[in-house]
Amino acid sequence: MKKSMYGKFGGQFVPEVLMPALTELEEAYEKYKDDPKFLAELDYYMKDFAGRETPLYFAKNLSKKYGIKIYLKREDLVHGGAHKLNNTLGQALLAKYMGKKRLIAETGAGQHGTATAMAAANMGFECEVYMGAKDIVRQHMNVYRMELMGTKVNSVESGSRTLKDAINEAFRDWVTNVENTHYLIGSVVGSHPYPMIVRDFQSVIGKEVKEQIMEKEGRYPDSIVACAGGGSNAMGIFHPFVEDTEVKLFPVEAGGKEMKITEKEALHSSSLCVGEEGILQGAHTLILQDKYGQILESSSVSAGLDYSGVGPELAHLADIGRITPCNVSDDEALEAFYELSRLEGIIPALESSHAVAYVMKMAKTGELGDLVVINLSGRGDKDLESVFRIMEEGKEKEEKEACK
Ligand SMILES: *Cc1c(COP(=O)(O)O)cnc(C)c1O
Repeated sequence: MKKSMYGKFGGQFVPEVLMPALTELEEAYEKYKDDPKFLAELDYYMKDFAGRETPLYFAKNLSKKYGIKIYLKREDLVHGGAHKLNNTLGQALLAKYMGKKRLIAETGAGQHGTATAMAAANMGFECEVYMGAKDIVRQHMNVYRMELMGTKVNSVESGSRTLKDAINEAFRDWVTNVENTHYLIGSVVGSHPYPMIVRDFQSVIGKEVKEQIMEKEGRYPDSIVACAGGGSNAMGIFHPFVEDTEVKLFPVEAGGKEMKITEKEALHSSSLCVGEEGILQGAHTLILQDKYGQILESSSVSAGLDYSGVGPELAHLADIGRITPCNVSDDEALEAFYELSRLEGIIPALESSHAVAYVMKMAKTGELGDLVVINLSGRGDKDLESVFRIMEEGKEKEEKEACK
């Protein structure tokens, strides 16, 4: 099997001009990934800047109510409020070792752009982020955050003016400026070596869980549950456990409003569950597409899960049966958002609420065993406005019904 492949998934489906850049990145990564100086510096950033290690918290009230032991891996406590900084710090440091002066990224909801801006400001990079014009309006607070940290946000006016168009623009920039620029991809997606690099930087999550759960419970969990958009927080917590086949792994995708794909758009974001093989962002993987192979826009209550594909390694692990893809609906995720807030005093990101919702739904079935770890990928502060709006709309609807 070629190194760039995970079974039949992965690869490097990019224009010829980008091959040298991918090769340069791969060689640099191989050179530095075990280099003591690089690792010591990364460790410093992870500890003192990002706030690692994050706690593995026993959710006592949730556990009591659902009848199994539930632990939360608190990635919501990482600086910036999500796991994304683990990856941007790692890649930015690698770019520094490679002598690059400039970082570029694309962002949908703005979370990855923000995490990139943080790393760039701290390590002294020039930074530009591509973002669809539609997303810029929807996520104006994240645009302001990035600008505060000195990042230039470029509005992308082409196509549907969302994430997939921003991806195209970022690729275009990289082709032109590859000499001094590192393209910082935000999940375990894209051409080799990106899925491997992002997975490795995010694996700090799973490595910490291994030690923490042994200390607290003296054994590995029966199940690990993580939400999956592109799949980086899922791969990060799963990867150190892949060989431990007694531990069941559940990536939870966004089931959205309904489980039906229309031709114009997918009302969900469940690439692992119902996607088909195709090429997205330079990799062969499972994606949401129409019968002509055109990418379908995904849809979810959580902007961070709204990606039309999924990382190739997750596609492979699903293919060989090592992970069990599943999904929950927008409404189930919202219910989990309220439940965790009320029961534990922790407001989860809507993305992470999908993982919590799956555990709430499955706890009684025995499917998850008695000891479960949920990757709490982020905090919910960023989602308060949209949850508030959904609540208000719900109330209005109820009032109208009552008047009838
Ligand atoms: C971006 C994001 C995700 C989804 O990205 P993955 O690569 O699938 O992890 C999940 N949770 C939070 C909080 C995010 O910000």
